[in-house]
Amino acid sequence: MENCLFCKIIKGEIPSSKVYEDDEMLIFKDIAPQAKIHYLLVLKEHFANICEMTESQAIILARCLKKLSGMVDELGLQNGFRLVSNKGADACQSVEHLHIHILGGEKLSEKMA
Ligand code: 5GP
Ligand code: ZN
Repeated sequence: MENCLFCKIIKGEIPSSKVYEDDEMLIFKDIAPQAKIHYLLVLKEHFANICEMTESQAIILARCLKKLSGMVDELGLQNGFRLVSNKGADACQSVEHLHIHILGGEKLSEKMA
């Protein structure tokens, strides 16, 4: 997608601090971290949010989350982590390319909002 920030990051047109990449997903550091560890997991295929996701994209997302579950130690998340995906105005989604926030590296708030 033209003019999509995360598509540009995926293509390498905008630099990012990558922590993992394969042919289906990229995990990189959020530029404005909201926890000691704050990564963004994006699928390489562009779609705006979970409501725009096709069945086949849902299968890819599930596979990527499964891969993430095997990488928690190397990502510094062995004590736990929180996954968040914002959709729409009420959730303050600011980038219209599905992404999963991965938060951890410290004790997080008991409140989520
Ligand atoms: P949203 O608000 O859409 O759920 O999350 C978008 C996230 O993208 C925010 O946490 C924001 O800090 C992050 N972000 C925005 N622009 C950039 C950028 O250029 N590079 C990186 N690494 N993260 C970004
Ligand atoms: Zn995109």
